[in-house]
Amino acid sequence: MLAEVIAIGDELTSGQRLDTNSQWLSRELGLLGIPVGYHTTVCDTLDAGREAFATAAQRTQLVLATGGLGPTADDLTRDVLAAVAGVPLVCCERSLAEVNARFARRGMPMPESNRRQALFPEGSQPIPNPTGTAPGIDLTLPAGERWGQGRGARIFTLPGVPAEMRRMWQETVAPALVTLAGGSRVLQHRRLKCFGAGESALEEMLPGLIERGRDPTVGITAHEATITLRISAWAASASECAAKISDTEQVIRDALGPLVYGEEDDEVEDAATQSLRTARLSLATVEAGTGGRVAALMAQAAARQSAAAVFRGGIVLPELSSESDTLVRAALHVAEQQGADLGLAVGPVRLSDERQAVDIVIASGEWREVHEHHLGGGDIALSRAAKAAIDRVRFVAADRRVGKLGGTS
Ligand code: ATP
Repeated sequence: MLAEVIAIGDELTSGQRLDTNSQWLSRELGLLGIPVGYHTTVCDTLDAGREAFATAAQRTQLVLATGGLGPTADDLTRDVLAAVAGVPLVCCERSLAEVNARFARRGMPMPESNRRQALFPEGSQPIPNPTGTAPGIDLTLPAGERWGQGRGARIFTLPGVPAEMRRMWQETVAPALVTLAGGSRVLQHRRLKCFGAGESALEEMLPGLIERGRDPTVGITAHEATITLRISAWAASASECAAKISDTEQVIRDALGPLVYGEEDDEVEDAATQSLRTARLSLATVEAGTGGRVAALMAQAAARQSAAAVFRGGIVLPELSSESDTLVRAALHVAEQQGADLGLAVGPVRLSDERQAVDIVIASGEWREVHEHHLGGGDIALSRAAKAAIDRVRFVAADRRVGKLGGTS
């Protein structure tokens, strides 16, 4: 089965917005083992839309489209689909009631224009949208000479808003495609989370693993310096899937060691909090360069784990000397003040070898660790630095040298 992804909207064709939906959907389709042969980006007119969908449905068997499902006059995707299928638009009473109910919950009457969102090409199915008003459209074009090279074509159309589109994909479209592509086979995923090395460095440490056609497949994505490795396996049963995934997971863990800090939705601060809990240690922070980011992340992780005693609080200073004795004193002082076992100090942003850097100091009694973190470019440099500081806490708490100091919490 070959797929095409269509992105709809003047915003996209005029260059005002980058089409990230097609990238995301193509990756997801790849993980299901469905190759994508074409990407099309098309403006908001009836003729252009009709041509794009008709072409896609002739040359592929599966079309995924996003955008143009809103209530306004320039949202024409439903009209385009009806025209391509040669059917009228009909009102789906259930969808109309749902759109109505969504407005009622907000205490507002439904604007007349939103009625359009309950119109569907005859014979198609609505795709539920749990977070927005526009349902998606699931339409099958019949097998015969015309569509999908004789096999027919299935078209899934989702709203343009990325968060709505992703949720609808995960809840409705992906499960439907697993059945369509895999028959009675089962698909399972497992995500391993890594921190401390760049995407390409990690890839080099995993030779042959991130390759097309490997079974199970291993996908790699990066978000603010956190790297996610997603293992996906098809098999005849859930237990066979789990066995295939666990073999590949072991290969990855052997190759990457402590760079793997967690699984699934774990963040690096969750792992650091867990390490502190295991070592029965608590932490307090003082930050200049990272402006409170470390404290915010650690407080959130402590709340998620109902472990308020692990993070004793943090201080944000507008200025702090980058001299390491001062940072050690600041770390020890905040630890003492807050009754914590470990103090973490993040120094101000300074220049080092013509690059920007911050100093990360962790101290407890006579023990201390001083670490220089070089800031990369871009808006996320400071949140990356905060995560780097938290990652040092993860290592320190897991380290026996500090374990010897004993914990009091
Ligand atoms: P709704 O009316 O519920 O917002 P819609 O299907 O009409 O949904 P659009 O109006 O086409 O969606 O797009 C809504 C917003 O979603 C756009 O303003 C843009 O911010 C974003 N968006 C649309 N298409 C894409 C895309 N391909 N990639 C990234 N963002 C997109």
